[in-house]
Amino acid sequence: MFKRVLVANRGEIALRIIRCLRELDIESVVVYSTADEQSLPVMLATHSVCIGPARADESYLNEDAVIETALKMNCDAIHPGYGFLSENAGFARKCEKHHLVFIGPSSEIIEKMGDKQAARKLMQQNGIPVVPGSKELITDAEEAAKIAEEIGYPVLIKASAGGGGKGMRRAFDRAEVLKAFEMAKAEAKAAFGDDSMYMEKLVLKPHHIEFQILADTFGNITYLGERDCSIQRRNQKLLEESPAWILNDALRKEMGETAVKAAKAAGYYSAGTVEFILDDEGNYYFIEMNTRIQVEHPVTELITGVDLIKEQIRIAAGMKLTHTQDEIKIKGHAIECRINAQNVGKVDFIHFPAGYGVRVDSHLYTGYEVSPYYDSMIAKIIVKGNTRLDAIRRMRRALEELILEGISTNAEFMYLLMYHPAFIKGNYNTAFWDEHSETIMKWEEEGRSGGNE
Ligand code: ADP
Repeated sequence: MFKRVLVANRGEIALRIIRCLRELDIESVVVYSTADEQSLPVMLATHSVCIGPARADESYLNEDAVIETALKMNCDAIHPGYGFLSENAGFARKCEKHHLVFIGPSSEIIEKMGDKQAARKLMQQNGIPVVPGSKELITDAEEAAKIAEEIGYPVLIKASAGGGGKGMRRAFDRAEVLKAFEMAKAEAKAAFGDDSMYMEKLVLKPHHIEFQILADTFGNITYLGERDCSIQRRNQKLLEESPAWILNDALRKEMGETAVKAAKAAGYYSAGTVEFILDDEGNYYFIEMNTRIQVEHPVTELITGVDLIKEQIRIAAGMKLTHTQDEIKIKGHAIECRINAQNVGKVDFIHFPAGYGVRVDSHLYTGYEVSPYYDSMIAKIIVKGNTRLDAIRRMRRALEELILEGISTNAEFMYLLMYHPAFIKGNYNTAFWDEHSETIMKWEEEGRSGGNE
């Protein structure tokens, strides 16, 4: 097993990894920017090294500074968390070159899955359903319009290097394709430095269902149930739950086995997520594979009892999975709410919920300064109940206990969401935000002004 691991991340995920390393008796070295000097990861890691100024491209994304620190501090491995360098094949390659273990799959696998059009092709060749769409990359808007006619409207134009919903545009007719293609391409160029584009049929109101998989380097692959991440705002996930209410056991097994097949096709090892969209008729399609730990991994941990970060570290150290597929038992129901900051500044006071069935992953404390330089997610509130309704009730009481002064957040929205009839019924898909967010915001408004009188 490793003796010392560098954590190349910040915030709640850096904490999550540092805590796990401590439980494994592995020393941690966290790298940080000047903006994070007073952060919990820096306080809790065995060692910490400042690698640059606040701007991520000069610190958390500075590949050479991270590698140099790992070498200087005698680390055996690097955990990249999510975001930042986690899906950067070039960085993984640099780690391999310097004999530092990248806690994730090989650079070759990251590259293969990071090119979304190439991943689609690979899946198709292996008999995994993909959304009907372009066979090759699309070079210009005219070609895009031609392909859209063939597929049939509406279509979704996507960036092959895409992530976080960027470089993605819908189009319902020819004029829209011509315009959307150029916009998506420019956005992809700016965000990823790569404007390779492809196209899929736009599935109307699908469910976003993803399967967690774990694979070791001995060829053992398991799936640990699914997560429904359909509640999204501009393609960004807001709430995740497991199990997905709309799946029955037969479909769960079929999709889980398909996810394992997808991982096999990629020659995958480490923790990973196979994302599908699912329509109301039970048709499902592969959309992409994420080759890292996900923000929403705790919901899977709560219902399976498997520590995904621990497994990921063990796999990277060349150890076998601790379980077989038959040993994975889904128990209860888990929900995660992402709490996002709506302004930056000082946390004047914070009190987090706790108690039976409640987990909070957050790097905040009273006096902490929320920085404008990074992601706005400041906490994840995760609950587990015996049933879905138990979990919903527990989430309500957890959010009632949350006190956060100095920073405004979406916590109230999340609380009201727990009372929305469509959510309670589990009757929702990726159109939920467009269809219901206004109602919930109106409730919020009314709550503030003291009612309807
Ligand atoms: P990113 O990597 O940028 O997150 P994804 O390919 O995972 O991009 O898609 C993001 C979201 O967009 C998905 O969660 C899903 O809700 C929606 N989506 C993706 N592909 C389609 C499609 N073909 N039809 C309808 N919705 C889609």
